[in-house]
Amino acid sequence: MGPGESRGFLVVLSAPSGAGKNTVLARVLPRLEHLTYSVSCTTRPARPGERDGVDYYFLSDEEFDRRVSTGDFLEWAWFCGHRYGTPRAFVEERTARGETVIMDIDVQGSAQVKRNWPGAVLVFLLPPSLEELRRRLTRRGSDGAAAVEGRLRAAREELRAVAEYDYVIINDELDRAARLLEAIIRAERLKTARSPWPTWLEALRKGDRIDAGTA
Ligand code: 5GP
Repeated sequence: MGPGESRGFLVVLSAPSGAGKNTVLARVLPRLEHLTYSVSCTTRPARPGERDGVDYYFLSDEEFDRRVSTGDFLEWAWFCGHRYGTPRAFVEERTARGETVIMDIDVQGSAQVKRNWPGAVLVFLLPPSLEELRRRLTRRGSDGAAAVEGRLRAAREELRAVAEYDYVIINDELDRAARLLEAIIRAERLKTARSPWPTWLEALRKGDRIDAGTA
């Protein structure tokens, strides 16, 4: 973190599967400097087009067990019969460098982050309707009918967790949802507790001009 820049922090983005998290994230990531996506590990098989190390690190059950036992995960959870976890080292290293790390995790993982990572910012993305969610899940075509029903059941359950989040965005229109998420991150970077204001005041007193940094 250089002078004039905000301290690193964690943004958790949760939404029912199919609510459009990935599309919103794909819009926001290129728009903000120093925003990094945390790639999760999973035991779920890759969907067509998904790449190892980009969308997820696809792990065997044994490898996932091993990483759980060595404490490699910041949080992990079961979701629809598979396990998902966030690699701890990446998040620690990037936030220590002053970056904002964003992760797409489910509501159980988010509850763990809230307990263990003070200052994490929790954002929930709502679909405009459950009917729309069903359409999106079906259109994706990568999950069979039973899996779609399982994900819809999970979605109804997950909606109960909204109250635990700091922000809630309705994804009715992609660009609007992306702009709102961007605005949240920018505003969070400007929090006094995260800003290097003592350095700024010192510079002002010396008669220097202060750099607005990356906020
Ligand atoms: P999908 O299989 O559709 O990619 O993801 C299913 C669910 O797992 C989504 O709600 C997604 O946010 C969640 N998920 C993805 N990565 C992680 C992770 O590292 N930890 C937890 N707890 N959930 C995750």
